[in-house]
Amino acid sequence: MTDLRPIDSKVIPRFAQHASLFRAPIVADTAGLDIAVFGVPYDLGSSNRNGARLGPGQIREMSRLIRPINGGTGVNPFKLCNIADIGDAPVNPFDIMESLDSIAAFATNLRKQGIASVACGGDHTVALPLLRGAVTPGQPVSLIHFDAHSDTGDSSFGMRYNNGTGFRRAVEEGLIDPKRTIQIGIRANLFREGDLDFTYNSGMRVITMDEFDRLGREGVIAEIKKTIGEVPTYVTFDIDGLDPVHCPGTGAPEPGGLSMRDVQVILRSLRGFDVIGGDVCEVSPPLDPSGSTAVNAANIMFEILCLVAEALHHKKANAA
Ligand code: MN
Ligand code: MN
Repeated sequence: MTDLRPIDSKVIPRFAQHASLFRAPIVADTAGLDIAVFGVPYDLGSSNRNGARLGPGQIREMSRLIRPINGGTGVNPFKLCNIADIGDAPVNPFDIMESLDSIAAFATNLRKQGIASVACGGDHTVALPLLRGAVTPGQPVSLIHFDAHSDTGDSSFGMRYNNGTGFRRAVEEGLIDPKRTIQIGIRANLFREGDLDFTYNSGMRVITMDEFDRLGREGVIAEIKKTIGEVPTYVTFDIDGLDPVHCPGTGAPEPGGLSMRDVQVILRSLRGFDVIGGDVCEVSPPLDPSGSTAVNAANIMFEILCLVAEALHHKKANAA
């Protein structure tokens, strides 16, 4: 297989050559990969301000800034695993159901080859087909869900598949265990009383921003570890979980959210847990003129990539 190291930015400057996620090599042939990074350019699930279909392109561009060694943990995912940018999942810009199927088929094909997925959206609808692909049928995973919104509605304008319903569908489809699901950053105002009934009744652990402030980071980390347990865990990150000062470029900004520093500390504390994959969604470049939202999304995606790479490397070392 070809050399899968990322472009050396000390040799080829970061502004040169084609953009790829984290300067990873761009490959069409996935043979031999441990982790695929890719985009899901889809935003038919946005109920209001869209543009997240352009997220993968902008996150790729801004990920030129990411250096390969994690500044907090010292982890170099490219040393632990074979990682490549495999492009974007196929979508039909005029057809929601066909897109969900094609994204799920793309992700499923990776799992069947033993390849982990770390993806960027796209609106948050895409987490559902990504989970359909990443989860082994009959073995629901733990979920760490960062978001200002719970995304457990039943339908909107009569439509059951959109960026506000994905995690209800994921419970119904047996993809995630609600009792091993933790939502962090929840704070948005609601349309109606009872909008969060499914979340709480299904047994999800919800850390609202008010509770986040009471617990502090260490308390939140302890709650995450207690909730997910030592079983396969997927991380889904809606960029609007961040405070809008860190993510102006998203469809539904909600004041009073997480800082990038909160996120770094939390994600880096999850080393040693079985993180099998993840996604970062809801970056809308037309709403992000400075590019700062995409920079933060690329950094979060890299933190998730480090967790997945370490977990995979650990499993392979134990199996050897
Ligand atoms: Mn959200
Ligand atoms: Mn969301």
